[in-house]
Amino acid sequence: MTMETLEFQAEARQLLQLMVHSIYSNKDIFLRELISNASDALDKLRLAKLQDGLEADTSDLHIQIEADTEARTLIVRDNGIGMTREEVVALIGTIAKSGTADLLAKLKEANEAKGDAELIGQFGVGFYSTFMVADKVTLVTHKAGTEGHGTRWESAGEGTYTIEDEPDAPVGTTVTLQLRPKDEEDALYDYADEWRIKEIVKRYSDFISFPIRMGDEALNSMKALWARPRSEVTDEEYHEFYKHISHDWSEPLEIINMKAEGTFEYEALLFIPSRAPHDLFQRDARRGLQLYVKRVFIMDDSKELIPDYLRFVKGVVDAADLSLNISREILQQDRHIQMIRRRLIKKVLSTIKDLMSSNPEKYATFWREFGRAVKEGLLNDPDNHKPILEIASFGTTAQDEPTTLAAYVERMKEDQEEIYYLTGESRSQVVNSPHMEAFQAQGYEVLILTDPVDEIWVDAVPDFDGKKLRSIARGSVDLKKDDAEEKEPEGDFAPLLGFLKEKLDEQVKEVRLSHRLTTSAACLVSDSDDITPALEKMYRAMGQDGPRVKRILELNPNHALVAGLRSAHERGAEDPALPETAELLYGTALLAEGGDLEDPARFAKLLADRLARTV
Ligand code: ADP
Repeated sequence: MTMETLEFQAEARQLLQLMVHSIYSNKDIFLRELISNASDALDKLRLAKLQDGLEADTSDLHIQIEADTEARTLIVRDNGIGMTREEVVALIGTIAKSGTADLLAKLKEANEAKGDAELIGQFGVGFYSTFMVADKVTLVTHKAGTEGHGTRWESAGEGTYTIEDEPDAPVGTTVTLQLRPKDEEDALYDYADEWRIKEIVKRYSDFISFPIRMGDEALNSMKALWARPRSEVTDEEYHEFYKHISHDWSEPLEIINMKAEGTFEYEALLFIPSRAPHDLFQRDARRGLQLYVKRVFIMDDSKELIPDYLRFVKGVVDAADLSLNISREILQQDRHIQMIRRRLIKKVLSTIKDLMSSNPEKYATFWREFGRAVKEGLLNDPDNHKPILEIASFGTTAQDEPTTLAAYVERMKEDQEEIYYLTGESRSQVVNSPHMEAFQAQGYEVLILTDPVDEIWVDAVPDFDGKKLRSIARGSVDLKKDDAEEKEPEGDFAPLLGFLKEKLDEQVKEVRLSHRLTTSAACLVSDSDDITPALEKMYRAMGQDGPRVKRILELNPNHALVAGLRSAHERGAEDPALPETAELLYGTALLAEGGDLEDPARFAKLLADRLARTV
């Protein structure tokens, strides 16, 4: 095929622009990214031979670097899997990463260069980072197992690239950078300088398991980091390894080493990132750990090793006794893998628990970034309810910062037997909800749960430390009052309650006097066994239609509106204004908790008509 000039996908073009204008201060990392890609390609070739029987020479898998100060070029060559022409277009011409659009929108928002760089760092742009240091990049590649010619790709990082056949390309990939003139003020060093290259390789890529050579000299030690005692490995080495496997450019929050000896041996090196990835809640995001067998890379993204709710954990598990060509299907059923998974869960959860006391700030970061994901475990992993609840934090009426359940229990009032909570969309909506009134007035602390997943797990968790979790918007509430305040006997209100029940029959299943209101006239509560409106809404959004769940209307007998309504009803139940007032009362209760009116236009009209009579 002849030479074609193609356009980068729009998002790729924008990211490239950012690279060309190099907003990221640490430009050295382009080499780490190239070596990381090369190392992946070597792993892939070895696996293709091992598992799919591809015929390939894997006797000397390596990465070769050549620097030429005269020509100002830097070459990184691997004899790995290579790419076909279609793959080059798909993989290098576009950015498939989920969250790219999001990232670009955020970058636009943050005008300040520093903010930009940080965001790019979180995202990691791999191959494109070469355009920070080069004004032309050429990639020549030949896919293993394909006959004939290879492919040559070239771009100056502007809107387009060229692609053409390359007759004599060997199997693997060669990337040639035409280096920009050095500009130390802009942290653009001389990347044709051998000494600098050696130093960068040592710093960022020492652990790569294939030799990285310059001339005949191997620049890296190739030691598997997880197999080395922690005391011998520097934090920086761990960090670089983390960046290699996670494609994240920021430092991890926590490092976890594990080693098991005996009947089933394995080593694990896990990382908790310091920031949630953009795609934490996207179903198609990559997740899982890397699996090795006796230092040999077997597969990426092994979901079998870590549950979904800990999907942000990155790392490597090296199991000694698995077969080298184990398939994903077998992995799923393997008893040892399941055992490792259970141990990893325990270890991650206990590490977080230790952080709570040893480094509360780190813990707070962890929970802010990953708490929403971890809480999914309360639904999916009943065996670990306890340790998950122990590391969880929640918003609370007692303080601005989140609280643990243990601290809540510590503060509970003497007569209090349950842990109170209220779910909602935001802190302010929950705090100002009428359901809160009596609890606030009497000084009971209430947890403020505002994540969508909170609506669901609260039903799956029976208790914490023997104390039931109790929604204050459900069932009846009987706070033991200190002031033994006289409650209005229901009797006087009975006719009104009966009347309202009849008028609002379509909307509510019961109308009763409330013990939870101090200032509002009315509120809606769910029956103890019924699902909440938020949950009902979620089910509907998922396409599950069921009968509408009716709730209970509670009235505040001490409120002037309710008292007035009672008098009006006593004066004449036939008063045509009464049913309208009933509707208004119901609508107001719904609005106060942040609910949606079924017929907002009608409500507005009733309200306007009523107001018109009072002005
Ligand atoms: P990432 O490595 O984060 O996926 P990159 O932009 O660095 O993103 O690379 C995109 C894809 O291009 C890689 O996932 C890989 O499939 C392919 N690729 C890059 N470099 C090589 C290489 N040296 N050999 C084979 N494939 C490569």
